[in-house]
Amino acid sequence: MLKTTFPTLNLESSALGFGCMRFPTDADGKIIEDEAIRMVHHAIDNGVTYIDTAYPYHGGNSELVVGKALKDGYREKVILATKLPMWKVEKHEDMMAILDEQLEKLQVDCIDFYLLHAMNAERLELARKLDYKKFLAEALAQGKIKYPAFSFHDNYDAFMAILNDYDWKMCQVQMNILDDNNQATLKGIEAAREKGVGVVVMEPLRGGLLANPPADVVKLYESWPTRRTAVDWAFRYLYTMPGVVTILSGMSTMEQVVDNLRIFDVPQGEALTDEDKQLYVQVKDTYMACTKTRCTGCKYCQPCPMGVKIPSIFQGYDTSLMRADGSFKKGYAKISAEEADASRCVGCGKCERACPQNLPIIRYLKEIHAECTAE
Ligand code: SF4
Ligand code: SF4
Repeated sequence: MLKTTFPTLNLESSALGFGCMRFPTDADGKIIEDEAIRMVHHAIDNGVTYIDTAYPYHGGNSELVVGKALKDGYREKVILATKLPMWKVEKHEDMMAILDEQLEKLQVDCIDFYLLHAMNAERLELARKLDYKKFLAEALAQGKIKYPAFSFHDNYDAFMAILNDYDWKMCQVQMNILDDNNQATLKGIEAAREKGVGVVVMEPLRGGLLANPPADVVKLYESWPTRRTAVDWAFRYLYTMPGVVTILSGMSTMEQVVDNLRIFDVPQGEALTDEDKQLYVQVKDTYMACTKTRCTGCKYCQPCPMGVKIPSIFQGYDTSLMRADGSFKKGYAKISAEEADASRCVGCGKCERACPQNLPIIRYLKEIHAECTAE
């Protein structure tokens, strides 16, 4: 197992982290506990030392199962990370009450990395208003957490605002072959590295999209002199990236655990060749060639005065094109149910003036709406 270190903490970790949001489930969606625990144990027995869960995963049951999996000496072998659901916090006292509930569910006295979950610009304001720094100081003083951290979904500006707001010990961001210019961006990861804040990566396979590439991408991988699976290439992109400490993989089967262990069984210090870097450029270009809007999700067009969720619509639509399964109708219906679909657009043009990509947003919205609502 490839080993890495969290900078400034002198804390060794495995480069592969076990994400506990996609445990195997039965027909009713209940976690198959025996199998989930067997998978976690197999990963730890073979060198995985980073376990990531969160309050809402599996309807609140992931933390319970992780607590069971970490009995019998396994807790001492791992770095344990879980997250404070910021959307449930209404007043200052809620933060400690939730943390206490999590400690009980996990059956531990202390959580190593405690993350403010899914932080964005709006939640930073809320966290400040509720004095999150006082809460973290108390949790640290009481020995309930070791390292304050945050997970993140927003744009680069929001990432920098959060990164610079506190003495974080780690940040968890979305990064993969397609997202170098999205969310925190490569620039954000570099900024975290410069500050000595270790980066944990989520969505390394972009929700499975990179594990099942379209035919043109398959052709590219097959034509390359070094033969590797698409998943192998996707993980390699990340574990060779400066600043990245651990990469989370949400594993659902023992087969995936075994495959990931094989992929991360590489020599220390392995780097990408110039040819490999070229391959990633071609892979990204090939994926992007399938898309329509090329929206980067930067959110500079938000908020729309009519509440249209432009980035969600564009990115959902593009992803469905890359998957070539026409699956966005369902996603679009969900956005409509939230009263945030394109039919609400009144053509004021505010979004187009703000878009750094100069996208013809109003036209794209009309076209996507027509396609997604056609019988
Ligand atoms: S043009 Fe439409 S989508 Fe854009 S800001 Fe105005 S109402 Fe919102
Ligand atoms: S439409 Fe433009 S401004 Fe809005 S998220 Fe996409 S790229 Fe950014």
